[in-house]
Amino acid sequence: MANSDASSAPLDPRLAAIRNFEGKYPKQLWWLFLSEMWERFCFYGMRGALTVFMMSQLGLLEKEANLQYGAIQSFVYTMTFVGGFFADRVLGFRRSIVWGGLLMVIGSFTIAASPKELFYIGTSISIIGTGFFKPNISGVVGMLYHDGDSRRDAGFSLFYSGINIGAMLGGFVCVSLGKNYGWNWCFMSTGLVMIFGLVVFTSTSRQLEPLGHSPLCGPDQPPTLGTIEKVIGVYAGSLLMIPLVLLLVSNSTYTDYFMWTVGPVVLAWFLWSMLSCTADEAKKLVVALVLVLFSIMFWGIFEQSGGSLAIVAENNLATSETDTLPISINNSSNSVFVILFAPLLGILWMKMKDKEPDSVVKFAFGFLFLAGGYWVFQSLIRFADPNGHSSLAIFTTAYFLVTVGELCLSPIGLSAMTKLAPRRMYGVMMGMWFLASAYGQYVAGLLGAGMASDDPNATKLQKLQSYTDGYGQLAIYAVICAVLMLALSLLLKKLAKGSA
Ligand code: GLN
Repeated sequence: MANSDASSAPLDPRLAAIRNFEGKYPKQLWWLFLSEMWERFCFYGMRGALTVFMMSQLGLLEKEANLQYGAIQSFVYTMTFVGGFFADRVLGFRRSIVWGGLLMVIGSFTIAASPKELFYIGTSISIIGTGFFKPNISGVVGMLYHDGDSRRDAGFSLFYSGINIGAMLGGFVCVSLGKNYGWNWCFMSTGLVMIFGLVVFTSTSRQLEPLGHSPLCGPDQPPTLGTIEKVIGVYAGSLLMIPLVLLLVSNSTYTDYFMWTVGPVVLAWFLWSMLSCTADEAKKLVVALVLVLFSIMFWGIFEQSGGSLAIVAENNLATSETDTLPISINNSSNSVFVILFAPLLGILWMKMKDKEPDSVVKFAFGFLFLAGGYWVFQSLIRFADPNGHSSLAIFTTAYFLVTVGELCLSPIGLSAMTKLAPRRMYGVMMGMWFLASAYGQYVAGLLGAGMASDDPNATKLQKLQSYTDGYGQLAIYAVICAVLMLALSLLLKKLAKGSA
């Protein structure tokens, strides 16, 4: 019994025992929560340190560092598609998670050994590792639930809190270690924490019983012909990809070619693989695809946080060179709000019972809150003094609204992918979901660059004006997406047949 759960076949009693859990959450969710929390510590710890490290240690200029940062982020999320693809077909979810985690540990320690010299190679190893870990642990969360279990969204909301506890701690700790004690310690800490996450996962994965094994072999199933070769082939193939990723990541001009090629190819492949699905499966996959496409727009707007909003925090909110509060708020308030409000929203969805909106309507709400947040970001210009200094309270309020929007969309999207895809396609569907994030990062960079003032001698007030004009436009785009989602909701609901 691997990943399949064909409804005609009798359900494995061990699996039924997991899914017939009492209360709000299955107990396995807590272990997955902890493993993912440490993985996100490692990921966001590295992410938070990237730009500062590249500028201060590798001598990159601001523009180059931004481009490089965007390229690395896009590749991380692109690799999740590869990780999901091979989990479905060869490795299974558990092996993929362990393999990905190991690569992340090796990647971190490689950089820690000699940060300046080994930065790109270590980052490339970590990128591939994240690709195997990230989508598949989310896929396992989805497997803990029966189809149609209304507690699934709440489970994903809780899981999402774990993600953000890790993100908040990693984002805060690693860059401080790097700046104050040396960059070896920054990357050493991400490696050590990742070991911890791996130990949590491997020591508790027995509780997943029949879930997440390779579709080619499992404890109850003898390996099919050529299984060992295929498994070794995936391990070897992922190692062979390191030089390729290294080449692409260390030269950000390749990013454009890469993004313009991968998206259409993956889309064509996805549509083609829908041909082998039943009509009902294909209809649900169409809904999943629509959600994925809209999420690109969401992340493109949302991910201004790593770029233009960080610049606004530095230029227009800091009271002095040494005032780090605005940038810290920019980096961590989103996670803090997620931690505080994800459980509340989870409870709200559960309390609403029959009145709970479906995923498409929740997406529309997500866009509306995002629009509200960007409308508030736009208003920063109205609170600015003649020197271009504006209000941190307004900035933080905008983050609150954006975060509520994220909570209506991101955990819901994760959950929806596992409701809409047949179980044999969980990995790849998760990969598609995160691939949309890769495009979101890419779009965010383009939007951010487009909003930046062209005049290098512009005053702080003029720079703020340029960004806030852009935020106003992004708010309008978000409202348009919300309206489109609402307009499509009836049709999508029909196609999803109650699965969204
Ligand atoms: N912050 C979430 C995470 O790290 C969502 C990221 C994304 O999909 N862009 O999992």
